[in-house]
Formats: sequence, structure tokens, C-alpha cells
Amino acid sequence: MCRKVLRHSLKSVNRNSKADEAHQDYAFHYRLDSESTRAPVFHHRLAELGRAVLESLLNVVVPQSSGEDVKVDGFRWLMDREQSYPLFRNLDKPSAFSASGKPKGNQHLEPDKGDCPAFQSVANASLYEPRIGLLAELIESVLDLVEFEYQGKPVKVDGFMLKDLHDWTVPSTGSPGEVIDYAGGRCSCDCVFCCNKGNPPLVAARDNVSRAAGEDFEEIKTRIEYFSPESGLALFPSLGTVYEVTAHPFFLAMLRKLRAKTSRPFRITTNGNNLTPEMVAELAELKPIYLYFSLNSSSPLRRQRLMKDPHPQTAINALPLLRESILSPMLLSSSPGHWAR
Ligand code: SF4
Repeated sequence: MCRKVLRHSLKSVNRNSKADEAHQDYAFHYRLDSESTRAPVFHHRLAELGRAVLESLLNVVVPQSSGEDVKVDGFRWLMDREQSYPLFRNLDKPSAFSASGKPKGNQHLEPDKGDCPAFQSVANASLYEPRIGLLAELIESVLDLVEFEYQGKPVKVDGFMLKDLHDWTVPSTGSPGEVIDYAGGRCSCDCVFCCNKGNPPLVAARDNVSRAAGEDFEEIKTRIEYFSPESGLALFPSLGTVYEVTAHPFFLAMLRKLRAKTSRPFRITTNGNNLTPEMVAELAELKPIYLYFSLNSSSPLRRQRLMKDPHPQTAINALPLLRESILSPMLLSSSPGHWAR
């Protein structure tokens, strides 16, 4: 869909929503890997640039010849028939390793602290949107060769941000859960059986785990802005671990904004720890909602022991309230029920 049509369709989707208010997009920032931490395959910088660009491209495109996929593992310059260059440091693992031999983007997994706004993780973004990884590699390769200037003076560049988010929409199922999960960066319990505890670092490291709730919400508002069930489009997803969405301070504000955008059911997995009478009353205003309720035990003592729930009675008391409010609760007996995107 061309940008003009997309803009139009997004506008028409928002016609009846509060999102008509002036909205400034959340800035998706990514940190660049500095020269000192990247080990080149070739010390000849131009050869390394060609290699890095081609390797990065092969992470997002498949070369073809006469309509058939072809594999390539090297290149040569047009003007030099003699010299050829291998593309990959390790031919057994051509696409899984970067020039430094480390898993691609792993250097970006640690949350960035003290930056405002926070950098997102290139590695996590690249799992669903590898073109972001491609851009990072291209810019890093160019920075090995040139210095950027502003008004005649060299400037240091340590990151980049996506310019027009309309360029970064992808097909969407239109399920509100695609947005709701982004509120799941924290949890109000600490279950002994939590599946998130066993996640490998690449999955477990939600890049924004340390950022402020307000900044989470800025991203969520932008995701809602670009979420268009009618057009089947949404902003590219990023990998994260989903804990307890109701624990997010902006959980209800997010649902209200989403409800203005779609009448589809909200499917919310919860440990029930935040289902106070006030919360249930607020949720009842936002129906249809399906709650996947991870009660695990109706004994306060057992729930406290299993889930480290500081207020087990809140979840236990919520069940009759939910039935009265017709919020379609579904009980999950022992599953933590918090999904990884
Ligand atoms: S299982 Fe669910 S409720 Fe328990 S700690 Fe994990 S995310 Fe939180």
C-alpha cells in the first residue's frame, strides 16, 4: 500500500477516537556498535565495507538466478578479477554470526541505562524486523570509513532513530493483544513455576525492562496510533517477555485508547493480583474482555507460597466480581499463562 493510501486509512480508522488529539510518535532509537567493539574480518576497510554490506543484505534478501534461489559465500570487485573475498568469518554459520564472531546484536541486549529516551535493542528488533539490523550494520560499516560533519565540524554518532513510522508497518492480525503485550514488562508476583525464569538470555532480555512506565506508554500510544485492524497493519513487533500486563501503571489508559480504536475482544492473561473491585468495574466498561485467569489456588496460603502474591485475597475475591460483571473469566489451573511474543 502506498504511503498516501496508508495515511488516509489510518486517519479514517481514528475518526471517532481520542487519538485525533495531536500525537507525537515515540522515537524508536537504536545504539550503534562502536568501532572499538567490532572486530573486522578484513583490515582493508573498503573490502570490509563490501563484505559487511553484502552479509547484512543476505540476512534480509535471498539472491536468485532465473527465478531460483542461489547461495553465495563470497564476492569480488568488478574491476578486480583476481582477488575474491569470503563473506563469512565462519562458513558453517553464515547468517548467525556477525563479523566479530558474536551472535548478531548480542552486544545490544543489555538495557541502556541513563539514556533519555532509552535505546531499543537492535538484536530484539532484528528478530522480527531484520532490516533494522541491516541498517545498523550499514551505518557502522560506513562509520569505519568516514566521519559525519555538521556545519563543517565532525560530530560523533552513536545511534539512529526511525524517521517516518509509516515505513515500518507490517501485516497485522488486528488482534488487540498485539498491542496489549507491550504493557507486560513487569510482574506483581514471583511464581516458583514462572516460565519466564527459564528463558534464554536472548528471549528473556526485554530491552526496555529498566525504562520508566511513562516511556513504555509513549511507545504503546504510538503502537496504538499505527494499529489498524481495518487495514490489517501495525508497527513491526519486537521480541519481549510478557509478564503481568495489569501491573503496568498505564494499563487501563492503554485499554481505553485501544477500545476507541477497535471493538474486538481484549484477551488478557492475568494472575488476578490487581483485580480489585475498582479495576473490575473499570474493565466492565471496556467489554468485551476475556480474562485468562491464573488463579492456581483458591487457598490464600498456598497462593502466597506458590506465587509470592502479597495480597492473595484480591485475586480470590475477584472471581465472583468477574461473574457479576460478565467479563468471561477463564481459569487456568496451573499455567502461568503469560506468553512470550
Ligand atoms: S507466572 Fe505470571 S504471575 Fe507468576 S511471576 Fe511469572 S509472569 Fe508473574
